Amino acid sequence: MSIEKLVRPEIAALKAYHVPDAKGMVKLDAMENPYPLPETLRRELAEVLSRADLNRYPEPSPRRLRDMLALKMGVPQGMELILGNGSDELLQIVTLALARPGAAVMYPSPTFVMYSMYAKFFGMKVVAAPLRDDFSLDAPAFVERMKAEQPAIVFIAYPNNPTGVLYPEADVTQVIRAAPGLVVVDEAYHAFAGKSFMDRLGDFPNLVVLRTVSKLGLAGIRLGYLAGRPEWIEQFDKVRSPYNLNVLTQTAALFLLDRLDVLQEQAARIRADRGSLAKALAALPDVTVFPSEANFLVIRVPDADGAFEGLRRQGVLVKNLNMPAMRNCLRITVGTPDENRILLNALRESL
Ligand code: PMP
Repeated sequence: MSIEKLVRPEIAALKAYHVPDAKGMVKLDAMENPYPLPETLRRELAEVLSRADLNRYPEPSPRRLRDMLALKMGVPQGMELILGNGSDELLQIVTLALARPGAAVMYPSPTFVMYSMYAKFFGMKVVAAPLRDDFSLDAPAFVERMKAEQPAIVFIAYPNNPTGVLYPEADVTQVIRAAPGLVVVDEAYHAFAGKSFMDRLGDFPNLVVLRTVSKLGLAGIRLGYLAGRPEWIEQFDKVRSPYNLNVLTQTAALFLLDRLDVLQEQAARIRADRGSLAKALAALPDVTVFPSEANFLVIRVPDADGAFEGLRRQGVLVKNLNMPAMRNCLRITVGTPDENRILLNALRESL
């Protein structure tokens, strides 16, 4: 038996999604909310979780949680939701459902790596349309390329990761109107952007909106949701694994969605701190800060590899984006004011 002969060559050629060891580090690499839940809430949650029936399978398609999310997150009447083990799983589900042989996935690039990973897993063609040098979307060029490639799925991260850019609404609308297939607007960073296509779902039959609670402060529970017309959701639901949302996630989500204001206040604080951090970074010599509507900032420095290593040696973990499309760029998650101060001091030493 040869593993190389059995594993599909396109899988063998991939690298697994890399998560660096962050033990003991100031962790500013993964766009997490740095604030824990308040102590009283943690205790109440523990009590609620202690009553969960771990001996039973979870609700397979939790109606109460879907209704609660729809209500709290402003999903328009008449639209349906499918829930996932993180929005990652929903990207996988959508891609799998549309992965006819020969079909293409298209997205502005660079963007979230899992769009291309899932496309490759399911044997689809990947069309990465380059962003402009300032990371803005060239909508007319994108539309032209769509005409040639006829993608079954277009992914648009709104705001984009790893650039932080929120494309103008009119540009995204132009893409949705011209797309020959499904458009997934991925609003993972919605809590920090204040703009959304959720209330436009009724305007476009080919649009679905993807969200997650991860960046809002609940990355650990793994819960994503996809909103769209019932006709779409019905198809995606066939591809979903049974019981994909575990009992603890469902219980915690129901409890915390009722106390959403706590998380929304934290998001507002992060958004305000993003402004102060951007100013402080821009004041450093030879640092360019790009505009961001997410909970992270992208900076360009003279030597990103050197700065990344210097930060790491001083116990600060950020994301090194030094690749051709983002030459000498680092991505820094907005942390607590203390973490941001530590980052600034360490970066000053590392430039
Ligand atoms: N979409 C985008 C644009 C992201 O940046 C991420 C995570 N970094 C995800 C989706 C996945 O998030 P999760 O699986 O935690 O919901």
